Amino acid sequence: MAEYTIVVGLEVHVQLQTASKLFCGCANRFNPEHPNTQTCPVCLGLPGSLPVMNRKAYELSVKTALALNCNIARFTKWDRKQYYYPDLPKNYQISQYDLPFSYDGWLDIAADDADAPLRRIGIIRAHLEEDAGKNIHDESGRGNDSQVDLNRTGTPLLEIVSQPDLRSASEARRYLEELRLLLTYIDVSDCNMQEGSLRCDANVNLHVHSLDGKHIPTPITEVKNMNSFRNVELAIEFEAKRQYEEYQRTQQKLGDVPKTTRGWDANRELTYPLRSKEEAADYRYLPDPDLAPVTVTDEQVAQIKTGLCEFPADRRQRFQDAYYLSPYDASVIISQGLSFADYFEAVAKIAGDGKMAANWVTQDILREIKERQLTEGTYPVPADVLGTLLSQIHANMITTKSGRDVFQILLDEQNEATVTADRVMQIIEENGLKVVNDTGQLTAAIDEVLERSGSQQAIDAFRGGKENAIGPLIGQVMKNVKGADPKQVREMIVEKLK
Ligand SMILES: [Zn+2]
Repeated sequence: MAEYTIVVGLEVHVQLQTASKLFCGCANRFNPEHPNTQTCPVCLGLPGSLPVMNRKAYELSVKTALALNCNIARFTKWDRKQYYYPDLPKNYQISQYDLPFSYDGWLDIAADDADAPLRRIGIIRAHLEEDAGKNIHDESGRGNDSQVDLNRTGTPLLEIVSQPDLRSASEARRYLEELRLLLTYIDVSDCNMQEGSLRCDANVNLHVHSLDGKHIPTPITEVKNMNSFRNVELAIEFEAKRQYEEYQRTQQKLGDVPKTTRGWDANRELTYPLRSKEEAADYRYLPDPDLAPVTVTDEQVAQIKTGLCEFPADRRQRFQDAYYLSPYDASVIISQGLSFADYFEAVAKIAGDGKMAANWVTQDILREIKERQLTEGTYPVPADVLGTLLSQIHANMITTKSGRDVFQILLDEQNEATVTADRVMQIIEENGLKVVNDTGQLTAAIDEVLERSGSQQAIDAFRGGKENAIGPLIGQVMKNVKGADPKQVREMIVEKLK
């Protein structure tokens, strides 16, 4: 029996990709090269300025919450979360405190055991708030000034809080991957972690299994500053071990000590204590008097719902059902993003063979994308061209080997100009790759090869029991009749020599 169960809840902050900020008209764009150029009196909190809510940001939030199966509140208001920090010029952040716009949702993810049923992870709430600016400290140790860039101040930020339903570090990572996939599919955020569009804090504790069968919860720690999914996974693994050691040493249970906050040091791969966390009461939340409450009608919710695309989980299942893909292949294709899934589906439809299309796009196409470092949405050959090529293989018009040759020619030509589906047929024609089903032509070619004086040795060897001896003869026939099926040639030669 395991000594403990890991219990994790994640708080994910996602920047919404709107043209402008949440309460002013400033551009919402990652722009660290030009700090403090995307600001105005509203996001700088200058006296006399008044915020106006960005309706588009609110729509994107509702869209996200619906995709996460949340209930949508028809009435919400804005609160001021008050604290002093250099990256927050107003000294308060506009957020949703007691009335979040959405609550009680869920997201299904794959279990640690891939064959086990999906795990349903509860979403406590998703609420909208404005982002703070960014402090830039000199980390070289040379003692240069710290600086503040307020370009990010006021960017619409969605906070998505999960239930503590995650039971392992790898599960936490999969939750984040599925969440990011969903958010990019529904096109609400680019979820770029390097640029800070997706940030994550983890609440971690353990249920220690006692000898008499009880589960004893340990104090919760909140881990911050994890800048990749891999680091989230590592930090949770580290934190579980650290908490178990601490429990064995101190016997401290949940409630014995206040919740603590720890940072993640990616270089040393360990967590370290940060300032103790403010309680909600410390923020002195109060309703923002400058902003009207927000109401959303049933019609508006219904309209946003209608505009939602097929979600990754649904598409993964449909690819298995409609194209006979394995769960693994469907998962690989879906996880490459919306554009790649569309590409696969276009290829599969024209090819008339989903499995073959899956093999080619997950192997050949992904390899070429990687080697050529193509940007997302760009492909080494257009979908209709690959689809046409595969349809020829599927219909036994060319062999798989010939298909690979055509693919290589297409890749080379694509470097010069865009290839078309017609070009596939031309290449097959020009190179004489069409499978030869005309047995008359094959018989003639085989007879010609067998009558060559140089073939006699191989024929004798074959008759002497060495079946492989006719290999070179098959090769010579194939050379003369390019589209011939090697299996068929072998059978015909064997038949003749018997
Ligand atoms: Zn502004």
